[in-house]
Amino acid sequence: VGELEAASGAQTPRDTAPRFKGGAVSIRDLSMSYGDLEVLKGIDLDIARGTVTCVIGPSGSGKSTLLRCLNRLVEPKRGAIELDGESILSMKPESLRRRVGMVFQHFNLFPDHTALENVMLSLTKIKGMPKGEARRIAETRLAEVGLAGRKDHRPAGLSGGQQQRVAIARALAMDPEVVLFDEVTSALDPELVKGVLDLMASLGRQGMTMAVVTHEMGFARRVADQVVFMDEGRIVEAGPPQQIFDNPQSERLKRFLAEVL
Ligand code: ADP
Ligand code: MG
Repeated sequence: VGELEAASGAQTPRDTAPRFKGGAVSIRDLSMSYGDLEVLKGIDLDIARGTVTCVIGPSGSGKSTLLRCLNRLVEPKRGAIELDGESILSMKPESLRRRVGMVFQHFNLFPDHTALENVMLSLTKIKGMPKGEARRIAETRLAEVGLAGRKDHRPAGLSGGQQQRVAIARALAMDPEVVLFDEVTSALDPELVKGVLDLMASLGRQGMTMAVVTHEMGFARRVADQVVFMDEGRIVEAGPPQQIFDNPQSERLKRFLAEVL
């Protein structure tokens, strides 16, 4: 707490923040291939309601593919994924998009729309919400990520950190049960990283269920309830941050940590 709490408190005051409902995710024997290339090889993972799971591992180990399976940007070859006991593989895509939000490395905002419109669009298009109501929710969500004063700017008029916070506000506007973050600070200038990480830490404290692929080991250590180390399509080790960072068991994780820390 302390510094982190104070810094993020300034951006997302607790009294105006939503109390997230957070869902639980259960993954069993999940496998996924691109053609002949098997990139997930029997993943078993539980993400408890309202907890933060950080996924770490070398490039190409399958981290992004794992997140993509969770909101079915790709279809797994085998295995089961449940959200609060309900199979996501049999959910309607629109229902899944509402319940599982995703934030990407490159923001994926619409360049010709303002911050406010970017957040409103998913509400009007996916939820079919009337414009006035969508506007009210979008304004609230943008204020919560510290961007009330920038809502009428287009992405090009915002810093990378601000664009990423718009993308997070857009994901939150859907009132999701889980939010997936795929290396969301990797494209940011170093001085903009902290604001985004602080916002994510704050969401975690407010009970959002989050799966976070990240190279930010400091964030994983501070914020994660569970850290998952992947290599070559498998979970090699998983556990609380102290265990993963201070007492790694496998040679592969020891080698990885020696390279990144
Ligand atoms: P990570 O996010 O850990 O870097 P990815 O999940 O992106 O790993 O990729 C895992 C493996 O799948 C890599 O070998 C990558 O080259 C391959 N891969 C990823 N996306 C595709 C795709 N759309 N088509 C074919 N191969 C892919
Ligand atoms: Mg990736």
